[in-house]
Amino acid sequence: MSGGEKVYGSLKEALNAVFGEGAEVRERRAIHGGDCNDARLLVLSTGERVFLKSNNSKNLCFFTAEARGLDAIAGTETIATPKVLAVGTDAAQGMAFLLMEFVEEGRRRADFFEDFGRNLAAMHKAQPPLQMPAGKPFGFDEDNIIGFRPQCNTPQSDWISFFRDCRLAPQVRDAQAAGYLSKEDYQQADAVMTHLDRYLIEPEQPALVHGDLWGGNYMCGGDGSVLLIDPAAYIGHREVDLAMSQMFGGFSAAFYRAYQEAYPLQPGYEDRRPLYDLYQMLNHLNQFGTSYLGSVRRILARYASA
Ligand code: ADP
Repeated sequence: MSGGEKVYGSLKEALNAVFGEGAEVRERRAIHGGDCNDARLLVLSTGERVFLKSNNSKNLCFFTAEARGLDAIAGTETIATPKVLAVGTDAAQGMAFLLMEFVEEGRRRADFFEDFGRNLAAMHKAQPPLQMPAGKPFGFDEDNIIGFRPQCNTPQSDWISFFRDCRLAPQVRDAQAAGYLSKEDYQQADAVMTHLDRYLIEPEQPALVHGDLWGGNYMCGGDGSVLLIDPAAYIGHREVDLAMSQMFGGFSAAFYRAYQEAYPLQPGYEDRRPLYDLYQMLNHLNQFGTSYLGSVRRILARYASA
């Protein structure tokens, strides 16, 4: 993290370390819009405004992982993120927390989405600022969280194996264990994973990806330009970010035009996109239950009959 890898033992300790001895919370206001965590604006005795996310103290890993992801994105120096201030637990309040710069939302600049598309392309082109094991550039230096479920990031030498072993296989296993998948679903999923190299391709180069780039995970800062929040970051194929951005209706056309102009996608992206959705839909199935089974089945059927 920007504040070092320190995990603070209380919110007070974190506030004192970041804002000086005696800094304390004067006011807490609830912020709505998140999926998993409690979110607050804290107004401090120093006058500063900070953003606090909290969850049960056993979920500290949610926040160490999110901080790592935000720091990795910031390390590419291509697209803005809120600055991470501190991570810790607070026994008195029974919480784990992530403290970061509070983003005062502004009005989107006229070229907000062009700029967003160009900056995302720049992030995908950048050398990921992570030390990965030799010959294993795909993954991340720790596991993280997608939604509120674990996301495995064990480094691998190639993208297709990574996507099979660390993305599809754990979700299929959990959906199977939960009893969501029929025998036929399971067989189709197994066949898709076995033949994944028929459908996916290796990227031009490993790219740092946001990992959960839906419309709720970007904000507009005070200067009218984009900030990325709430990543499930790893080094993978950049197409996953484009696919996620399109999953619930898509961003503005200007975003895709600018992205494509700055860093054209490899041919055949549209044929690969449903497989990236499959990962997210399986995760939704495992998180929220069978209302996502139809989407999972449609994707499996498409590849099983291909
Ligand atoms: P969750 O992990 O629960 O999904 P988010 O990270 O999406 O939570 O944050 C919840 C909401 O809080 C977001 O939708 C956004 O509106 C707001 N938010 C997130 N980060 C900041 C920030 N640094 N400053 C101000 N508001 C923020």
